[in-house]
Amino acid sequence: MARYTDEQCRICRREGQKLFLKGTRCFTDKCSIARRNYAPGQHGQKRAKLSEYGTQLREKQKTKSYYGVGEKQFRGYFEMASNKKGVTGENLLQILESRLDNVVYRLGFGTSRAQARQFVNHGQFEVNGQKVDIPSYLVKAGDVITVRENKKDNATIKANVENARPVPAWLELNNETLSGKVVRLASREDVDIAIEEHLIVELYSK
Ligand code: SF4
Repeated sequence: MARYTDEQCRICRREGQKLFLKGTRCFTDKCSIARRNYAPGQHGQKRAKLSEYGTQLREKQKTKSYYGVGEKQFRGYFEMASNKKGVTGENLLQILESRLDNVVYRLGFGTSRAQARQFVNHGQFEVNGQKVDIPSYLVKAGDVITVRENKKDNATIKANVENARPVPAWLELNNETLSGKVVRLASREDVDIAIEEHLIVELYSK
């Protein structure tokens, strides 16, 4: 039988944690973490003890994978977070949560961030009445994100919204008009995955 290899699931297995990269599959018993919660590769079942640097690096890699952001952009978000008032790690998470692809995902229009990113790239959404096809666009409190009028018959988006999980408290979904509002920006408590953001700050502060 062919060995099951799947790049996205391998990332979760590497981090030893569900990162919800594959949409609905992540909530079924087909999830690779549910079936084989050990790192991929020949020596995957023997998890090596990480150095301090290794632990910090893994936390950064995990967060990048979770939000689907590349190294350069992630570094840029870190700089942005450091220049804002408040706690850098919390600012970083807030910025990542404010990305349009993440908001589209959180509102349930996409089953994964990757699918949400594709919808945004394909010009399916507008923000405050203006078409925005940039997944990294950062939303602000009060912004309204809507499926564009000529895309409202997209069967996948409609089905996703019908089957969506509860929308986080910082967003508001109107599934009749296929639109969502950013009630406020996400706070630390709204991030529903175990991330030790202080490790990322330590890594970049070296
Ligand atoms: Fe694969 Fe999703 Fe499970 Fe991660 S959470 S291992 S992406 S099915």
